[in-house]
Amino acid sequence: MGLKFKCSTCRKPVISGYLKRGEIMACPHCGALVTIPDFATESDESPSIRSQRGPSLSQEQIKPELKLTEREDLVPVCPYCEASLNEIYTRTKGIPFISADNTVYFCPHCLKVLGFGKSRMG
Ligand SMILES: [Zn+2]
Ligand SMILES: [Zn+2]
Repeated sequence: MGLKFKCSTCRKPVISGYLKRGEIMACPHCGALVTIPDFATESDESPSIRSQRGPSLSQEQIKPELKLTEREDLVPVCPYCEASLNEIYTRTKGIPFISADNTVYFCPHCLKVLGFGKSRMG
């Protein structure tokens, strides 16, 4: 149940859906903001679907912006022994579970592995 009227901009029929007379909605055809007129008629037709013009949010990949802040005054802490990591040991050879061009990063205090990475930069 909605109100039916013609868009004052594109003259196409619009069903207001749940909105009432005097309220403003975007025309699903041309996108213009139209005030639902007093002469809008009651209609059993289903509300008009919003226009597909313009970018659709559902189709865009929403990438959260990751903020990078340089903190030269802070020292990362080992997640295992909680020692401050002023340095991290790396090893590239002689460890059976890493392949040739990988580096293993480990804590110099507890020697637990912090992560893996490619040893070649770039
Ligand atoms: Zn329109
Ligand atoms: Zn540690």
